[in-house]
Amino acid sequence: MTAALSPPQSLLERLPHEWEELFAGWGQPRYRARQVFAWIHQRGILEPQAMTDLPGPLRLRLAQEGLAPPLTVVADQVSSDGTRKLLVEMVDSQRVETVLIPRGSVAERDVYAPPQDDDGDSDDEPDPAATEAYSQCISSQVGCAMGCAFCASGIAGLKRQMTAGEIYAQVLLGRARLEGQRRQSGIVFMGMGEPLHNYPAVARVLELLRTAEGFGMSLRRVTVSTSGLIPELRQLAEDFGGRVRLAVSVHASDSASRSRIMPINRRYPLPDLLAALREYPVPGLGRITIEYTLLGGDNDSDGDALRLSEQLAGLPVKVNLIPVNPVPEAAFPAPSEARVASFQRILRARGLDTFVRRRKGDDIAAACGQLALHGEKRKVRVL
Ligand code: SAH
Ligand code: SF4
Repeated sequence: MTAALSPPQSLLERLPHEWEELFAGWGQPRYRARQVFAWIHQRGILEPQAMTDLPGPLRLRLAQEGLAPPLTVVADQVSSDGTRKLLVEMVDSQRVETVLIPRGSVAERDVYAPPQDDDGDSDDEPDPAATEAYSQCISSQVGCAMGCAFCASGIAGLKRQMTAGEIYAQVLLGRARLEGQRRQSGIVFMGMGEPLHNYPAVARVLELLRTAEGFGMSLRRVTVSTSGLIPELRQLAEDFGGRVRLAVSVHASDSASRSRIMPINRRYPLPDLLAALREYPVPGLGRITIEYTLLGGDNDSDGDALRLSEQLAGLPVKVNLIPVNPVPEAAFPAPSEARVASFQRILRARGLDTFVRRRKGDDIAAACGQLALHGEKRKVRVL
């Protein structure tokens, strides 16, 4: 199935058939389209002058028409746990961050209880043979309009959408930085921004990622994380038929509490969101991930755990608990270890596979929710 996409905004984000159409118009043979596509997506070369097997006039034309790297890396920090954060700048000087997270490390394991049998979801269990594998967390917007109370990304509201080319270029940069090691073993849309609030660009990135003659990553290895925009969730289901992994940020056990910490819940309330998830096709991916950020003394009681288990009953899900990471602008205390353990125990006792996501890279402010537009003041506006 191929998504009905809106037109490409730049040369970089063209799919193979779009290159062929363009090159037909330029009087270029079809195989040239394949060559350019391979340069970009297999080798990560975005400067036409470096595409050495193309004739000079074609290289010149590509440069004149604007083929060029859309991002430059302005900082590259490595955490003590191996997590690596790239600060990238776009041509209009806007900046976002992307994070490379080593997999299979002890830090990623569930430290509270041994994992239950799993369905092989790639983000649960470290693969012993994959110690050099990284998953890459990418941003999809500059800022975010959703204004969740505990998250640094939304502090200044939405600055602007990213184009598909800008979103995708993070993945090419990530691969280049991992030279000599494995490719990324997975891509997660868990950086700055709400991916379903930039759906046309995200859909195009998914197509680029999965194109076999290009980046060639199965969508089973790609996770779109959303705060729950129901119409776009349905569109994603229609366009990709459950082939892409889905993570849904729930963070509350009832709708009123959710509205308090996630303003988007006033537009798309929890019962409607859960009903949409019941309809979501899951053939290829097995299960939907429910993300639940534990805010100390707020949503981490045993009662919350019980109510959450009732809300999720019968859904094909697993639960990732994320003890809140400190964000200077939004001070929620971390939950105690005892609370986290109890919350997990209750969900498991109710038959829900539940994992605890350990903080990674927080010494370089690269953990969930810490990617920020630095120095901005909180401003909440939903859509
Ligand atoms: N906008 C999307 C994806 C980006 S956020 C979404 O909200 O799902 C990725 C995950 O990090 C979400 O589950 C989000 O709620 C969580 N998160 C945000 N701020 C956090 C914080 N301070 N500590 C822990 N997790 C946080
Ligand atoms: Fe946006 Fe997600 Fe942060 Fe909420 S948690 S403000 S949706 S990035």
